[in-house]
Amino acid sequence: MDDCIFCKIASGQFESDIVYEDDDIVAFNDINPEAPTHILIIPKIHFESLNDVSDAESTVLGKINLVAKNLAMDRGIESGYRLVLNVGKEAGQTVDHIHYHLLGGRRLTWPPG
Ligand code: AMP
Ligand code: ZN
Repeated sequence: MDDCIFCKIASGQFESDIVYEDDDIVAFNDINPEAPTHILIIPKIHFESLNDVSDAESTVLGKINLVAKNLAMDRGIESGYRLVLNVGKEAGQTVDHIHYHLLGGRRLTWPPG
């Protein structure tokens, strides 16, 4: 996707504060953090949202959960953190490349708005 900012981050065309990377996944600090730890974790392959992921392609989403756990442990926030996936505009999705928010380092309230 030529005009996708997160594809550009994944390919290194656009600068970001990358905290983890492997063949399939990249994680980088959110530019507008909502918590002391606010990391975005994305598959390098472009999916607009969870609605566009097929069975065959879903393995990477499982891997993202483990990346999130490892990042949380590295940062010492494993006693309380949240992994958030906004799907669609009505849920607050503003970037159309699937991304998980890893949030922690402060008390997180429930329910979200
Ligand atoms: P969402 O509202 O779930 O689509 O989340 C999009 C997130 O991407 C927001 O938290 C933004 O602050 C973040 N964001 C947008 N552009 C960038 C960027 N270039 N680098 C890092 N985070 C970004
Ligand atoms: Zn993309």
